[in-house]
Amino acid sequence: MYTRLKFDLPAEITAIITRLEDSGHQAYLVGGAVRDLCRGVTPHDWDICTSARPEEMLALFADAFSIGAKFGTVTVPTQTCGQVEITTFRREGPYSDGRHPDYVEFSTELSSDLARRDFTCNALAYHPLSGLVDLFGGLADLEQGILRSVGEAKARLAEDKLRILRAFRFQLFLGLRLEAELKKAICQLAPLVANLPVERIGGEMRQILAHPEAYKAIRRMRVTGVLDGVLPELAACYGLVQNQYHAYTVYSHTIVTMKHCLDDLEVRTAMLLHDLGKGVIANQSADGIRRFWGHHEVSAQLAEAILRRWAWPSRSRKRIVTLVREHMFYWPDAPSEKALRRFIAKVGPDLVLSLMEVRKADIIGLGPQGKRRLWPWNILRNRISAMLEAEEVFSLRDLALDGNDLIEHFQLAPGPLIGQILDQLLDAVISEEVTNERRALLEYARRFVPDGE
Ligand code: ATP
Ligand code: MG
Repeated sequence: MYTRLKFDLPAEITAIITRLEDSGHQAYLVGGAVRDLCRGVTPHDWDICTSARPEEMLALFADAFSIGAKFGTVTVPTQTCGQVEITTFRREGPYSDGRHPDYVEFSTELSSDLARRDFTCNALAYHPLSGLVDLFGGLADLEQGILRSVGEAKARLAEDKLRILRAFRFQLFLGLRLEAELKKAICQLAPLVANLPVERIGGEMRQILAHPEAYKAIRRMRVTGVLDGVLPELAACYGLVQNQYHAYTVYSHTIVTMKHCLDDLEVRTAMLLHDLGKGVIANQSADGIRRFWGHHEVSAQLAEAILRRWAWPSRSRKRIVTLVREHMFYWPDAPSEKALRRFIAKVGPDLVLSLMEVRKADIIGLGPQGKRRLWPWNILRNRISAMLEAEEVFSLRDLALDGNDLIEHFQLAPGPLIGQILDQLLDAVISEEVTNERRALLEYARRFVPDGE
């Protein structure tokens, strides 16, 4: 059960383990941290499991606190290892609803705690003196590059369907292949992913999309049937043929754009969602060419709904939805400075370069025909970068005056009129009708102030 593998643990982790043991309890490092140490990777968070009960841990560590939602878990803040979570050994009852165990009870044995974990590589524990505890062959699986369930795959996935998505995530991040029984079980249980609470799906998707090769996980989800439950809007685009401008179906195009886009969570997520509207409005026009007029707007609405159901953080959600909504911009000729400034102002100076990246991936996703469009794209991107660097005026923030200046100068009452005047001023500066100087702007603003005020 023990191997002689030894790791240098951070002093604060060893101290927590020693403290628990000195008080008569068992304690081990467990889960992802042990797995990462075995892979030679520095863990990003440290979890400890113990035979001590939460109230005993709270009494032992002065700064410890517990969060009600996390049953049996006590958090200890550290200087070098972040918030260390210490959890009492537990044993889980059956999962009759396929989401939660019917009961969770504290246990005094490490083995029962490891047995409830999802995959062999996540069911490892480590003790600074006795070494690695490997009851399910997790180390050998890691060495051979295999992701394997603890126990019978189908039963373990049926208990908690989220493990299906966790399998795709660990496969991607750890570079593992799915063990044959696990893969078979995923295919058999795929339809049940649709029953998971949507925000749990979102939590996994957000992590999967953070990986540069997230497209591989999406493709695996499609092949195994899991995509129908995770993102039915994309599954509907599979096999959807486009027109002469496109080498790929809508689904394949989406995958290609995800593969070739900038390594950025928001850009990659925008690529995943940018053409979903095509699945809804696969119009056939009179000339027989399949067109998707207005698909960017429908895609934006779908993106909004999907990111909401995935409980995506709202600021990032809004940015991604804007990327999707604006992704179809196109200039046959070189746009004027003024047009470009308007475009940057509309999209937002902090989002426009991401949008350019979305456009680039979309062009690459046309297939060989896209190549000749990359040169104009390049010129446009360079012009936009130069304008951003020149700190031109793109938003109200950049104006040489603000609402208070208007209120004081024209003796106005605060209200919607102030915002309207500021918008007009911004418009005038962008169109080069007035220079961005305080005096000039006040002079120009006079025309928007009603008589007698
Ligand atoms: P990461 O490096 O991504 O944080 P991790 O292995 O730490 O990976 P977590 O989701 O943080 O993953 O979970 C911590 C541990 O808890 C896992 O290693 C695993 O042992 C166990 N675990 C988490 N979720 C489940 C689950 N749904 N079913 C069974 N065990 C789970
Ligand atoms: Mg973790």
